[in-house]
Amino acid sequence: MAQILYNSTRGQENNVEASLAIVKGLACDGGLFVPNTLPKMTTSIQTLCLMNYQDLAYEVMKHFLSDFTEQELRTCIASAYDDKFDTKEIAPLVKKGDAYYLELFHGNTLAFKDMALSILPYLMKTATKKQKIDNDIVILAATSGDTGKAALSGFANVEGTKIIVFYPKDGVSPIQKHQMVTQKGDNTYVIGIEGNFDDAQNGVKEIFNDEELGIEIKAKGYQFSSANSINIGRLIPQIVYYYYAYATLVNNGEIKNGERINVVVPTGNFGNILAAYYAKEMGLPIDHFICASNDNKVLFDFINSGVYDRKREFILTSSPSMDILISSNLERLIYQIAGGDSEVTANLMKMLSKNGEYTITDTMKNGLKDFVGYYASDKETSETIKDVFDKTGYLLDTHTAVGHAAYNKYKNTITDHTKTIVVATASPYKFTRSVMLSIDKAYDKYSDFELIDKMEELSHIKVPEAIEEIRSSEILHKSECAREQMKKEVRKILI
Ligand SMILES: *Cc1c(COP(=O)(O)O)cnc(C)c1O
Repeated sequence: MAQILYNSTRGQENNVEASLAIVKGLACDGGLFVPNTLPKMTTSIQTLCLMNYQDLAYEVMKHFLSDFTEQELRTCIASAYDDKFDTKEIAPLVKKGDAYYLELFHGNTLAFKDMALSILPYLMKTATKKQKIDNDIVILAATSGDTGKAALSGFANVEGTKIIVFYPKDGVSPIQKHQMVTQKGDNTYVIGIEGNFDDAQNGVKEIFNDEELGIEIKAKGYQFSSANSINIGRLIPQIVYYYYAYATLVNNGEIKNGERINVVVPTGNFGNILAAYYAKEMGLPIDHFICASNDNKVLFDFINSGVYDRKREFILTSSPSMDILISSNLERLIYQIAGGDSEVTANLMKMLSKNGEYTITDTMKNGLKDFVGYYASDKETSETIKDVFDKTGYLLDTHTAVGHAAYNKYKNTITDHTKTIVVATASPYKFTRSVMLSIDKAYDKYSDFELIDKMEELSHIKVPEAIEEIRSSEILHKSECAREQMKKEVRKILI
């Protein structure tokens, strides 16, 4: 197997081992780490079809984590994908109507972020040991709602780490917020900011790139890393479930081995859909990537016009985890379609931060040909939840519903009988109010916790443990700060 090393998308930091890329999170030039080549899958689909999630995860991840030993990687995988998940399958595929829903919300915190954040703390610990790093790792995370809780849950009480999460205080669902502010663990910190997700993410990136602060915390025995999908250690585990879903379709006789499929991905920071793209580059027969956006449709516009323009109003929607105007991982795709040219990538990113927009060349646009973009308004999202529930009895969360609405629009514009997976990114229990109001406005009179019981009656899906837990949990995190105060808050915690 070829040794994979990692390069910054902006060209100033190259040939970094996987373990170091994971520990660092972000490259020193502000770029993102990308593999120097995208490896090819060497195990046949036929063989992968015989594997459980854990073994299949090893077959995928070993290609990217060249400097991990087999035992190290297998131990990380076994520790992550265990009975924290409420189903042995880990990522079940559910067929309803003419769609296959890949349910990625069976982990600790009921969103797809668990797929990667269950394993990231183990990868990080192994990586620090391999790199002989003695500093404690301080995980800085910006969250649009789901990364925060998933990262807190993964890193709580992990020796040698602290985790600090910034969330937009008015930009997450009530259940998402409650999940975070009740987090236990002496090494956990949760801070609401007056601002949106982009503010939180930019603030975190600034803290990362602050050399002076880096030196100060080093003197205290700390160094920063990231649990956002800017960390390559978040993306690699996400490739696995696309392979797993494909193997499940073959095993269930829904497709023939080798047949192409489409994937619909509710998209925000572009991590999940980029993992699908990496899977295709490895050899998985994916035809189209259907990128679904909510009213913050910056990616829809980009895919259709080649112009990325963040200069627009930030809209708070019923799918808050996708309320993002600066999709960080798009930088990795830009780097790919620029033929691995870091100078081009760095220039475009500079334009984005300076002018708020950039335009790609026609050649680069050609590299996007497998991507199609659609978006759904809150009204369409809500109607989709009701429509799918009425027709199939399956209750979608708001994000998955954006995906489904995008899929409907795709089918209305293009005749394509390719079997299609809709990635189900969260449990409806995380967005009870929006989901229940989509079914019937009369639910509005109930409190958030009452709505949980109403949802159980309606869907016949038992209230997940993770939701039961927060009902009675004490609120432990009350900090809030202005966007400009984020650095000060970090200082207060560490220095
Ligand atoms: C994070 C998230 C998304 C967006 O995923 P990206 O990888 O950021 O594109 C979609 N749905 C839910 C429920 C999420 O938590």
